[in-house]
Amino acid sequence: MRVRAQFMMVMALDKCIGCHTCSVTCKQAWTNRNGTDYVWFNNVETKPGIGYPKHYEDQERWKGGWKLDGRERLQLKAGGRVRKLLHIFANPDLPVIDDYYEPWTYDYGHLVQAPLGDAAPVLSARSRLTGKPTALEWGPNWEDNLGGATERAREDPNLASIQDRVRLDYEHVFMFYLPRICEHCLNPSCVASCPSGAMYKREEDGIVLVDQDKCRSWRFCVSGCPYKKVYFNHVTGKAEKCTFCYARVEDGEPTICSETCVGRIRYIGIVLYDLDAVTAAASALDERDLVEAHRDLFLDARDPDVVAAAQDSGVPHDWIEAAQHSPVYALARELRVALPLHPEFRNLPMVWYVPPLAPVLDSLAVAGFDAEDPADVFAAIEHLRIPIEYLANLLAAGDVAPVEESLRKQTAMRAYKRAEQLTGRGDPAVAEAAGLDAASLEHLYRLLALANYDERYVIPRSHREDVGALQTEHWSLDFPGVFETRRGQEVPLPHRKEAR
Ligand code: SF4
Ligand code: SF4
Repeated sequence: MRVRAQFMMVMALDKCIGCHTCSVTCKQAWTNRNGTDYVWFNNVETKPGIGYPKHYEDQERWKGGWKLDGRERLQLKAGGRVRKLLHIFANPDLPVIDDYYEPWTYDYGHLVQAPLGDAAPVLSARSRLTGKPTALEWGPNWEDNLGGATERAREDPNLASIQDRVRLDYEHVFMFYLPRICEHCLNPSCVASCPSGAMYKREEDGIVLVDQDKCRSWRFCVSGCPYKKVYFNHVTGKAEKCTFCYARVEDGEPTICSETCVGRIRYIGIVLYDLDAVTAAASALDERDLVEAHRDLFLDARDPDVVAAAQDSGVPHDWIEAAQHSPVYALARELRVALPLHPEFRNLPMVWYVPPLAPVLDSLAVAGFDAEDPADVFAAIEHLRIPIEYLANLLAAGDVAPVEESLRKQTAMRAYKRAEQLTGRGDPAVAEAAGLDAASLEHLYRLLALANYDERYVIPRSHREDVGALQTEHWSLDFPGVFETRRGQEVPLPHRKEAR
C-alpha cells in the first residue's frame, strides 16, 4: 500500500447564497490578466441549467473523462494515442469561445467624453477580443437565478431521465447554486490527455497543475477534462487552470474562494488514500458503484495500520494528524453526507458536495406533513422541491440511494435540533432511523451549522524539505496505470520522472 495525502474540498450546497464572491476574488487573484478574460477558475452555476461552458456535462458531445473499453479497462473517452496523433492539429472535441462566452467591457470613456446633448450618454458593450461593439448573447452566469431557464434549462443533461416529472413553469420550478472549481481528481483525465507531460499531479498534496514551460498548446487537456476546468490562454498560448491556491495552502491558509466565501459553505482538509487502489476504484463495472468505490479509497487516519503505512510512505506526521481532524473526511466518509460531482466520468473528483435539502420544513407543511412527527420527517424527502433523481444524476451517477442517505441524515439532524430548541429534547428515534448515533448527529450539526474557521479549514503547512524526496509525478499518455491495468489485477506503478 502506498499512502498519499490529498487536499479535498467539500461544499455544503444548502448554504450557498449565489453571491459569486468566490468567483470574483478568484478572478482578482488568478485570472486578472490578458488572455484570461473569459476564464473563471471558480464559477457559480444555477441548476438546472446548461452551465459554463455550455453543456459541459454532456460527454457524448465533448468526450471528456474516462470510459471502460470492451475489456473493462479504463480508456480516455476521447480515445488513445493514435486518435490524438490523428487529430493533433485539429482537435474535434475542443470548445470554442462561444461555448464559454465572448468577454466584453464597456466604453466607459464615452460617459465623460460624449458631447453635450439632450439625452444622457449610455454605455455600449465592446468585445475584449476584437475591441468592436458586440451584442451580449451569453455570459459565465447568464443563467443566474434561472435567467432564461424556460428556454434553455431543459437542455440540462441531469434532467434527461426525469423530463416527464419535472415542470419548469413558475409554480413548480426549483433551483440551487453549484459553485465549481477544478476537482483536482485522483484519476485526472487532463493529465492523461496531455501529449507534452505538462499537466501533472503533485505527489505531496494531489494538486493538479500545468507546467507552463512544458505546455505546447495542444489543448487536449481542455477537451479531456469532463468538468471543462482547464482553459487556454490565447495570449500566452498556454493552458491554465485552478491551482488550489497552492501558494496559500502551502502556508496553511485556505484557498481564496474558501477564505472569502460568504455562506461559509466550503471545507478543506486532507484525506489519505492508497495510490495502488485508484485505478481499480475508477474501473468499477457499474457506474452506480463508483461513489462507494471512491469513498472506500479514503483511509481512516486514526487506524494504527494506516498511520504506520502513511509513515512508511513518507507522509509527514503533522499531515497524518491533520487527516485525523479532517472535516472533509468526516463529511465524505464518516458521516456519508457529501458526494462527488458526476462520478460517472470516472475521474475520481476531489471536490464533493453536500446535496441541498431545499426548505424542507416549509415543504413539509405545504405537503400536509407534521415536522414534529418522525415518520413525516422522512416522508418529506419525497416532497422536496428539488427532485431527488436530479441530485442523483448530478452527484451519484443516477443512483438515488446515496443522495437519499445524505438527505435523511440532514433532515434528521434538523428535526432533532429543532425539537431540542423548542421542547428541550430531540427525539433519538429520528436520528437512529437515519443511521446517526448521538455523537454523529452532534458532529454533523457542529460541522454544517456551527463550524468556525479552524474547524472548516484543517490545512497543514507544506514540508518544503521533503519536496525533493517526494518529487512530482508527471503523468502523460504513457501512464501505464491508466492504459494497462485490468480491474482486479495488480496495478503497475506509474512512471516516476526525475526531478527537474
Ligand atoms: S477537474 Fe481538474 S484535475 Fe480533474 S480532469 Fe479537470 S482539470 Fe484535470
Ligand atoms: S462565495 Fe460562497 S456563498 Fe457566495 S457564491 Fe461563492 S460559494 Fe456560494
